[in-house]
Amino acid sequence: MAQSIFEDAIKRLDKAGELSKIDAEVIERLRHPKAIMQVSIPVRMDDGGLKIFDGYRVQHDSTRGPTKGGIRFHPDVNLDEVKALAFWMTCKCAVVGIPFGGAKGGVTVNPKELSHLELERLSRGFIDRLADFIGPDIDIPAPDVYTNAMIMGWMMNAYSSIKRQHSPAVITGKPIPLGGSLGRDDATGRGAYYCIKELEKRRKWNNADIRVAVQGFGNAGQHVARLLHHDGYKIVAVSDSQGAIYNEEGFDIPSLMHVKKDTRKLKAVYCHGSLCEQVKAEALSNEELLELKVDILIPAALENQITPQNMAKIQAPIIVEVANGPTTSEADAMLAERGILIIPDILANAGGVTVSYFEWVQNRQGFYWTEEEVQQRLQVIMSREFNNVYELMEKHSVDMRTAAYTHALDRIGSAISAGGTYRYFNNKTNGG
Ligand code: GLU
Repeated sequence: MAQSIFEDAIKRLDKAGELSKIDAEVIERLRHPKAIMQVSIPVRMDDGGLKIFDGYRVQHDSTRGPTKGGIRFHPDVNLDEVKALAFWMTCKCAVVGIPFGGAKGGVTVNPKELSHLELERLSRGFIDRLADFIGPDIDIPAPDVYTNAMIMGWMMNAYSSIKRQHSPAVITGKPIPLGGSLGRDDATGRGAYYCIKELEKRRKWNNADIRVAVQGFGNAGQHVARLLHHDGYKIVAVSDSQGAIYNEEGFDIPSLMHVKKDTRKLKAVYCHGSLCEQVKAEALSNEELLELKVDILIPAALENQITPQNMAKIQAPIIVEVANGPTTSEADAMLAERGILIIPDILANAGGVTVSYFEWVQNRQGFYWTEEEVQQRLQVIMSREFNNVYELMEKHSVDMRTAAYTHALDRIGSAISAGGTYRYFNNKTNGG
């Protein structure tokens, strides 16, 4: 059987557990998701036929608050993957210190094969199944791979209809007119960008010398590339699920974003139509992109991209994990040994859930912030936690991922321990 992503993900707990002074019971608790909901979603298709889709929602841990995490629509979604993603959400929320536990959901579907109406029926159908499992004080979904603001709007509307109560705080990443937050759209990419800016301060490099490759030109990949390009970094390679493009001189990212929006493909840039002549680019595969000799590699697509198969070929000295789980634990150990600095996913991509938290706060208050306020608050959190993790890494001479997990475990562990562990309950003299 293929390696379980969840089992691989929780291996990181052991390493960090050794370092933090956390009670062993805390680690044991986190090995087991709190609750799992598996559903079937019947959808009436446009041709009149009925199709049944499998869906999952995993709530991993709610000690620090209601559980939080996105919903993905992807043909490879399965329970093991959703469990791993929920576990990462628990750790992510703790790293940035927002008052949520972790959850994740997914539907096994290729949304590109559905019409808009079928997609809407599927989205509403999933919420119909989940309505008693989620809620503004229980579990709050958000967008993830191949889901977007419009889908979140349908889901919020479906939940509100079932509960007969306007409930914007049940889901984040909504369209702005339906209670979404300004600044949520680019928050994941922007959070990663703020981490890179902190590293820039420490390394004092010249931005124009820094060559960057971005795997995945979805929401997060596009925005981190845009912000870095604006600051003078050279984005020499980008990719989508169809393949990668490379240009030694660096791409003009706003034009690439324009092409991607119009054609939904980067490939159009190098193989179709009049744009072929406008953008000079060499075609590469996604695998080749990962192995480029660049200064910063940003995996911003899916999990399991840097594995024992290609880890020896990775040449970038800095990796910023905008995707969840792009590096397997085995590859991770080898890259750390080679001195490659990895800004780990649970820190680098935490900007998304941080602004989701801001959205939830605004929905509950019914009082909305400006985009500047959102960005400024996001920067405060990302910069503070980046430096906290960086300093822990230096203090303990460990890799940055271990430092991030240690930081998360300190926060989760103190919350779990506050409810009592063996040490407390076995001490008969305690009390009063
Ligand atoms: N799906 C995003 C993540 O993996 C955002 C989750 C959220 O906003 O709740 O972090």
